[in-house]
Amino acid sequence: MKIIIHGGFFGESHTDPVTKKKKQDALIAIVKESYEYLKTHTALEAVMHAVTQLEDDPLFNAGIGSQIQSDGKIRMSASIMDGKTQKMSGVINIEETKNPIQVAFKLLPFEDRILGGEGATNFARMNGFEAFSTEIPQRRKEHEAKLASHGLGTVGCVAVDKDGNIAAGTSTGGKGFEIPGRISDSATVAGNYANAFCGVSCTGVGEDIVSNATAAKIVTRVTDGMPIKDAVEKTFTELKAIEGFAGVIAIDKDGNFYHKDSHVCMVYAKFDGNDLEVFG
Ligand code: ASP
Repeated sequence: MKIIIHGGFFGESHTDPVTKKKKQDALIAIVKESYEYLKTHTALEAVMHAVTQLEDDPLFNAGIGSQIQSDGKIRMSASIMDGKTQKMSGVINIEETKNPIQVAFKLLPFEDRILGGEGATNFARMNGFEAFSTEIPQRRKEHEAKLASHGLGTVGCVAVDKDGNIAAGTSTGGKGFEIPGRISDSATVAGNYANAFCGVSCTGVGEDIVSNATAAKIVTRVTDGMPIKDAVEKTFTELKAIEGFAGVIAIDKDGNFYHKDSHVCMVYAKFDGNDLEVFG
């Protein structure tokens, strides 16, 4: 059993050691608690559980604390993928919903599994997810000052459960100042992907991640027999060729972790019951 979570890119934490420490502490608490949860739950359930807690923490740019788009509204995206069944579900540009990852999870058994915009928000309301404002005053201040926070703190999780099944989940408030209608990578196979061999969650500039097909490419390479480190490194060489900005966390079926980010500013934590590590 292994679990790794990330809190995206933290531009602000590079200049602010207090915020950085707070984010690291939050990641440590969540990864430890989610590992306990994983002991009695599937990888899929544990991923949903961990991402929910990350969404609930205003320090991160997902759920509460999400960035604000150019028209002053918050639109969030999240997806979850079960490596066992190879099914992915997600919501794109959902509004006023506390936990987009839970709506994504709810969609898994449906035939129509990835919903966007108003359809995603309506589905949430019809399924008991009450309207909830995820705005925090700090994001509004940044928005009013026409400043993107650069705290691209998308969140994600990949886990392997006791049966060796892998799952991945990613949730984001986006880049900030987007043109309404912009699609994030987080609910696409470029930003979040898992099968029986490997699971990956990405953060960074969605357009670069989609152009590079990052998560799907890494998983495919591992599936075809490439060691996880080589699969990630090769994919990042390709990302560099397009001057891409991204970071990933990845786990293969043998529980090997690998992490890489193009600009060395990602924060993440991993735990396997013994070794706890926090980076960034
Ligand atoms: N990947 C997210 C997006 O482009 C942003 C992030 O990871 O911080 O929507």
